[in-house]
Amino acid sequence: MKNIIIFGAPGSGKGTYSAEIAERYGMGHISTGDVLRGEIKNETELGKIAKSYIDKGQLIPDELMIDILAKTYDAQPAGRGVIFDGFPRTIAQAEALKKMLAERGHNLGMMIELIVSEEVLMARLLRRAQIEGRADDNEETIRNRFAVYHSQTEPLSKWFEAEGIRHTFDWGICKTKEGMLEAIFEEIEKQNK
Ligand code: AMP
Repeated sequence: MKNIIIFGAPGSGKGTYSAEIAERYGMGHISTGDVLRGEIKNETELGKIAKSYIDKGQLIPDELMIDILAKTYDAQPAGRGVIFDGFPRTIAQAEALKKMLAERGHNLGMMIELIVSEEVLMARLLRRAQIEGRADDNEETIRNRFAVYHSQTEPLSKWFEAEGIRHTFDWGICKTKEGMLEAIFEEIEKQNK
């Protein structure tokens, strides 16, 4: 299987769709947000640093993230493809990911962009805050995460387009989770033929 990068705003469903894809195709799944939350829970040095950024809705510095990503990638079983969920979030991270994969004889594979209106995103994140109690799902932090997304992450969409691997899936067109999944699975299978 080709590697997959899941891309989209906070609350667009990256985690949910990644899990569905990973299960269907038996792929590895790296969620950098989950890796960081694990470090925080275990009260590691890295966790302490990560918490100070996550609580404010800011991005962890690129150098640190790239290091974490390479270690996590190398711990994955070889040969079945990996889904990158929440990484890259900056152009520097994307360049580093491309280089890291090339050094291992691999490539970026395909990018899947989830498109959801900001209104729907905000409502979903606030609901998730109530259900899961994620510390960074309060209104002020959410607004910050959107601002960071627009300034630092969204420009990456064009970067992937220039790489010729961007595929978009619009909630407004697919309407339901099932509709989105069907369209995504179809494209993945087409790309892996
Ligand atoms: P997520 O669960 O993907 O929404 O990530 C939660 C938080 O973890 C983000 O708001 C960032 O503070 C941090 N984080 C996760 N992935 C990255 C990344 N690739 N670069 C920088 N910070 C990240």
